[in-house]
Amino acid sequence: MTAQTPRPGSRSLLIAGGGLASLALAFALKQAHGPALAVTVIDPHGADPARHRGRAYALAAGGRRMLTQLGLWERIAAAAEPIAEMVISDSRLADPVRPVFLTFGPEEEDQPDRAVGEPFAHMVEAEPLARALSEACRGAGVDIRTGGVVRAVPEGAAIRAELTAGAPLRADLLVAADGARSRLREAARIGWVGWSYPQVGIVATIGHARPHRGRAFEHFLPAGPFAILPLRDGGSLGHRSSIVWTERADEADALLSGEPDEVLAEIERRFTLDLGTLALEHGPSRHPLAFGIARAFRAERLALLGDSAHVIHPIAGQGLNLGLADAAALAEAVTGALRLGLDPGGPDVLRAYERARRFDSFAMAAATDGLNRLFSNDALPLRLARDLGLGIVDRLPRLKRFFIGEAAASRGALSRLMRGEAL
Ligand SMILES: Cc1cc2nc3c(=O)[nH]c(=O)nc-3n(C[C@H](O)[C@H](O)[C@H](O)COP(=O)(O)OP(=O)(O)OC[C@H]3O[C@@H](n4cnc5c(N)ncnc54)[C@H](O)[C@@H]3O)c2cc1C
Repeated sequence: MTAQTPRPGSRSLLIAGGGLASLALAFALKQAHGPALAVTVIDPHGADPARHRGRAYALAAGGRRMLTQLGLWERIAAAAEPIAEMVISDSRLADPVRPVFLTFGPEEEDQPDRAVGEPFAHMVEAEPLARALSEACRGAGVDIRTGGVVRAVPEGAAIRAELTAGAPLRADLLVAADGARSRLREAARIGWVGWSYPQVGIVATIGHARPHRGRAFEHFLPAGPFAILPLRDGGSLGHRSSIVWTERADEADALLSGEPDEVLAEIERRFTLDLGTLALEHGPSRHPLAFGIARAFRAERLALLGDSAHVIHPIAGQGLNLGLADAAALAEAVTGALRLGLDPGGPDVLRAYERARRFDSFAMAAATDGLNRLFSNDALPLRLARDLGLGIVDRLPRLKRFFIGEAAASRGALSRLMRGEAL
């Protein structure tokens, strides 16, 4: 079948996968380059926001600055709750009290690289975020298609993508944003270092009678962290939080197979009744957890983005944030080439992108893996060591700022959009 080629004179980008970071990349580039760059996103689900229902993400300051710069933040602000304080405790499930070892609060906010009063993260509901991104993409002229990329073959100055249906597409650059099990990464023979955790992530929206006051909790329990993350008020009891509950995979099935009131009782044991009566508003859904990083973030005319390049444990809520940082860096590298009249899919662009993102992604993946190993463990010496460690960090403001700076993607060489600057 003859491949469809964009209009002569214009450049083209094809993105396989319509997740949140992929749509952010598509919009950033289309907004910056208009008709000079044809942008196509293809996904078996199109860009249907409904499939994100019930999910919420901790969006770090860099991602929020990017969305603000793109003019999207005001469209999703009504679905975003600032995290005013983060409280960390380490205990067993049956412990009568959960001693607090670490708090991150407003005193950490006055960092040189973050505006005074800028929260280090917001909890953002994924469905409104996906809707804002897909509407913005369509409004800007991004071609969003339903389908999949089966195979891609570089052909001289372009790459030819074969689709599940219809004529192949040709583009200057193909972005593989097709998730952790990326077919395109495998087809390009890019190596992957990774493993599955013997844990699953259970996600649910919980209604509660008392306000959370913007507080997030992370309880380190022996099976893994149990996070309570504040959402905008609403739901049957007036207030809501999202939970990310890490549990041993073999236990999770038994815990989740009961009647809804039994599942809620298990949640109550971990959530506690500190925020009053609880109700299950959405979920629970179960997600396999894994670690993985691609040996390269590029091949000829191909860039990996998001979970196709790196998969990390949700202990620090950073997976999507890494994907948005990828999108910002790739948008900057492509823009640099286009402004100079150069090939946006050429090796210099891909090298610059990989240089900007691979070390940062590896460092975050390794840090989250280490934290999970340290905390998802009930051995007494380890418990004592980590509790001492957390206590020390809590008393050393500079160290704490470093950790928050890392989590808020405020440190290191950030790309322009992550700093809140135009492309
Ligand atoms: C329990 C849990 C909690 C989390 N909490 C947070 C958090 O608080 N903050 C945070 O930053 N991150 C968090 N994450 C991580 C975050 O969910 C992921 O990093 C992010 O969703 C990955 O997005 P993605 O677009 O790269 O991949 P995906 O969301 O997997 O999207 C891949 C897309 O590619 C499409 N696709 C697949 N194959 C093809 C093909 N051949 N052609 C075209 N399209 C294809 C799929 O349909 C899909 O739409 C969490 C993860 C888990 C498991």
